[in-house]
Amino acid sequence: MSDCIFCKIAAGEIPSNKVYEDETVLAFYDLNPMAKVHVLIIPKEHIANVAEIDASNSAVVAHIFEVIAKIAKDLGLDEGYRVVSNCKEFAGQSVYHLHFHLLGGEQLSMNMC
Ligand code: AMP
Repeated sequence: MSDCIFCKIAAGEIPSNKVYEDETVLAFYDLNPMAKVHVLIIPKEHIANVAEIDASNSAVVAHIFEVIAKIAKDLGLDEGYRVVSNCKEFAGQSVYHLHFHLLGGEQLSMNMC
């Protein structure tokens, strides 16, 4: 999508601090980290949010979770981490391109909402 910031990051039109990249997935550090380690993992194709996942695009979502496990290992998040995806207004989604927050590197709050 032409006006989507994460599509522009995936296309290399906007710079990012990359952690991982392959043909279908990109991971980069969040600009405003909410934990010592805060990485965003996105599909390169535009999917608005979790509500838009269906049989036509779920393969890349499964791949994203493999990538998350690899990144967590590579970054040494052996003591644990959290994976979050905000979906629509009530969850505070601010960028409408599917992304998973990988948070770790320290003890995280038990407050889930
Ligand atoms: P959400 O609020 O769940 O939609 O998450 C969007 C996230 O994208 C926020 O944590 C922002 O800090 C992050 N973000 C927005 N623009 C950029 C950018 N250009 N590079 C890295 N992270 C970004």
